[in-house]
Amino acid sequence: MPKKPSPTLIKKHRIYSVWEAGDALDVHRQTVMRWTKDKGLIADKTGRLWLIKGSDLKHFLGERKASGKCKLSPHHLYCFGCKSPQMPVGRIANYKHQSQTTGMLTGLCPCCGTRLNKAVRRSELEVIRAKIDVTVQQADPTLVPLEEPPLTVTLHQGAKPNAKTQVK
Ligand SMILES: [Zn+2]
Repeated sequence: MPKKPSPTLIKKHRIYSVWEAGDALDVHRQTVMRWTKDKGLIADKTGRLWLIKGSDLKHFLGERKASGKCKLSPHHLYCFGCKSPQMPVGRIANYKHQSQTTGMLTGLCPCCGTRLNKAVRRSELEVIRAKIDVTVQQADPTLVPLEEPPLTVTLHQGAKPNAKTQVK
């Protein structure tokens, strides 16, 4: 998988040349130059070396990351089979609590039938429910201790607590 440039590698108060920025982010300097030309990255192009403020670069990378995230609408789930966001089959999804505030939204991909999962906030549920039908499930029973542990005396047939009195 190709590495994605991470804004955390950039120091806010440093001035970077195109070369240095490329090195720091592990991308080609042509890529950095393209960012300054087409993508709105601010650079000082008055000198021989194009200079970019660390804070501008951080901001730029942060925005790119954020805009990538926004592509997935609340009611879409990402399918790793189709490599695209999908509306679950029949506009139906399940929501399973994972904590007080978060849960897992699941559905099926309409194109390839892959199971779709997405971690969502409980507060997002209303927005999602406006678009698709969400069934809220209780937490997975295997994760929650049962209130009554199974009786161990049922190993022998007829050994139920009140069967005793009938036999003897
Ligand atoms: Zn799919």
